[in-house]
Amino acid sequence: MDKVSFGYEEVPPEEKTRRVRGVFSNVASRYDLMNDLMSGGMHRLWKNQFVRRVKPRRGEAILDMAGGTGDIAFRMVGSGAQITVADINREMLDVGIERARRQGIEGLVWAEENAEALTFVDQTFDAYTIAFGIRNVTDIPAALREAHRVLRIGGRFFCLEFSTSTWPGFRELYDSYSHNIVPRVGRAVAGDEDSYRYLIESIRRFPDMPTFAGMIEKAGFARVSVEPILGGAVAIHSGWKI
Ligand code: SAM
Repeated sequence: MDKVSFGYEEVPPEEKTRRVRGVFSNVASRYDLMNDLMSGGMHRLWKNQFVRRVKPRRGEAILDMAGGTGDIAFRMVGSGAQITVADINREMLDVGIERARRQGIEGLVWAEENAEALTFVDQTFDAYTIAFGIRNVTDIPAALREAHRVLRIGGRFFCLEFSTSTWPGFRELYDSYSHNIVPRVGRAVAGDEDSYRYLIESIRRFPDMPTFAGMIEKAGFARVSVEPILGGAVAIHSGWKI
């Protein structure tokens, strides 16, 4: 791989991985608060909708990739599924472990893992979830191939990610919000304008819904479908390993 995008910059792949790690190390302690502030609490609804689609079941093994501070895993653990929260960033996982302790959530497995090169053996999981994680991964096709590899036959893949809304006028509104408000809130609350600028720019650079669906198919998944939220400003992509 030659150069890859880090926000609007083109950087060598290893530099992107290093910088993304820096972004999440910087924001880890304020991550949950910032999600609420930036989305007006809406990320909670999107995550609920996502987990309803996943339908975790007792006895299943589920990998929540780029699981960060545990938001998706916390919503699935009550089902009785065995959840592994995996993330490349130790600080994000540590915040999650502490949150789980405070909320009395038990039974989660926390693992430091790079989505591009998982240490799990083939066909370990019944479902793979990744929420607001894939656009931060340097080599997205590699991560999708790894998702496919660690799923059992009949396993389900689910991705919740920002995308591009097809609603007329939405883009202008969103551009203005994200360019003017988000970095300022990032600076005021987290003291870190640059990290939030990166997060916005990475959203804009992410492939649109049909392109990303094509990438999931290319990794080997079948029956790939997309559920747009807010016209596709956020989207749930899913597929099956058959
Ligand atoms: N899933 C959580 C949520 O929805 O709140 C966290 C999402 S957070 C925006 C993105 C996460 O992706 C960060 O915790 C970051 O460390 C993780 N990440 C970025 N690149 C990764 C990679 N290559 N492998 C695993 N995790 C990665």
